[in-house]
Amino acid sequence: MKHIRSNDTKPEMRIRKYLFSKGFRYRLHKEDIPGKPDLTFPSRKKVIFINGCFWHGHDCKRGARIPKSNTAYWLKKIGRNVERDKANYLKLKELGYEIATVWECEMKDFPALAEKLEAFLNA
Ligand SMILES: [Zn+2]
Repeated sequence: MKHIRSNDTKPEMRIRKYLFSKGFRYRLHKEDIPGKPDLTFPSRKKVIFINGCFWHGHDCKRGARIPKSNTAYWLKKIGRNVERDKANYLKLKELGYEIATVWECEMKDFPALAEKLEAFLNA
């Protein structure tokens, strides 16, 4: 199974292209920010994470689909990811960043997702 949260995945590219076309400018995977957010908007102090539902334990059909074999291993691994996400979000908030999380499953309704992200960035 391929790790979804590698760089330049399809959902990420689509979101990047869209936001760029709307005039938003961002930095990618900034190393000096907790959690290396997929998109960072330095002047707005906002970050966007684009999360695979499986890897980040989303509360949706896809996120709940734990493999039948090595179940304990996967639960532990995903549990660690979720904990790490939480810790990173906390650190980001302490630094004054606002955070939006995009779940892979939200890509199914891209217009709604686009609206949510624009509202987040313009707020
Ligand atoms: Zn999901």
